[in-house]
Amino acid sequence: MDEAMLRDTMVRLAKSLFDRGFSVGSAGNISAALPDGGYLMTPTNSSLGFLDPARLSRLDAEWRHVDGDAPSKEVFLHRAFYDTRPGTGAVVHLHSTHATALSCLETTDPDDCIPPLTPYVVMRVGTVRMVPYVHPGDAAAGDLIRDLEGACSAVLLQNHGPVVSAKDLLSAVYAAEELEETAKLLVLLKQSRKRMLPPETVAELKARFG
Ligand SMILES: [Zn+2]
Repeated sequence: MDEAMLRDTMVRLAKSLFDRGFSVGSAGNISAALPDGGYLMTPTNSSLGFLDPARLSRLDAEWRHVDGDAPSKEVFLHRAFYDTRPGTGAVVHLHSTHATALSCLETTDPDDCIPPLTPYVVMRVGTVRMVPYVHPGDAAAGDLIRDLEGACSAVLLQNHGPVVSAKDLLSAVYAAEELEETAKLLVLLKQSRKRMLPPETVAELKARFG
């Protein structure tokens, strides 16, 4: 995908997420790798619903701001995924309600935040770990992602929200949607005895689609 198309796709997908309530206000940020080795990123304090393709932040391969508006303050968080997971093409960070709810619950298992309720969350997202709380925009968030050594494509930032990476922008958005919808099911079913996918089914899904 060339840069012009990537800019348009980022704006369109961001608006779609915003229009469906996956982000509100100026919450959430998205980045994607450019064919030349640099990155496009949503600007700081921008709303995902009202982005301008010409004003997206462009960064070079060393993450220096090249042009467009200043990048999101969560740039450290995004960069850590690209650095630790080869093949990462995009990162999506949202404050979507149910995934964020799980990030606030004491009962959420920090090593496996999203139990395998349905096959798609296993296929698109995999095991999700919790990252300890740091303030928004704190460079320490990047260190916490690096500590995972590329083991997870998605995490929950404690008391903050989800971050999802994938091989390209559309896959990252789909994975973020899948994570949020599964989190919604977990919240809906909280008081119920749930039938989870058995471990052998999860292993088979990861082997076949992971
Ligand atoms: Zn955030």
